Amino acid sequence: MIHHAVHTARPDIMCVAHSHSIYGRAFSTLGRNLDIITQDACAYYNDIVLYNSFKGVVLGADEGEAIAKALGSKKAAILQNHGLLTCGKTIESAVFWFTNLESCCHAQSLADAAAGGRGGETIKVTDEDAAFTYKTTGLSLRDSFKQNRCLIVWSVLVRSST
Ligand SMILES: [Zn+2]
Repeated sequence: MIHHAVHTARPDIMCVAHSHSIYGRAFSTLGRNLDIITQDACAYYNDIVLYNSFKGVVLGADEGEAIAKALGSKKAAILQNHGLLTCGKTIESAVFWFTNLESCCHAQSLADAAAGGRGGETIKVTDEDAAFTYKTTGLSLRDSFKQNRCLIVWSVLVRSST
């Protein structure tokens, strides 16, 4: 239901990746969007949403449509209490954005825990630097990724999250 709704709402994309991967799933319970704290996270600068309305397993069209509406024109969403979703103009880009986002959730979880343990906060990338970096890392330059490599990474990710 999620994939169908996003594809219907976004004719500009070819692929939607969604999984309950371990770091994304854990991060989704915090009820917050991704912080732009690393170069990799800059790929989601102003290009990721937090969908904070979990209403159980998505079996009906309404929930899928609500997720698609929240996603808007962005390439990624954190589905609160659920997992991650990314989309792309190619299969390769959607899978790359997903695996990169999973890694960003992992990194932020570690960084937040380390910073919190010292009574501090992580250092955020400035808007100016994030916007500049996004132009290099956040656009669909990853479309040149070899499909086989992405599919291997994807299958490992799915196996490790089940
Ligand atoms: Zn799901």
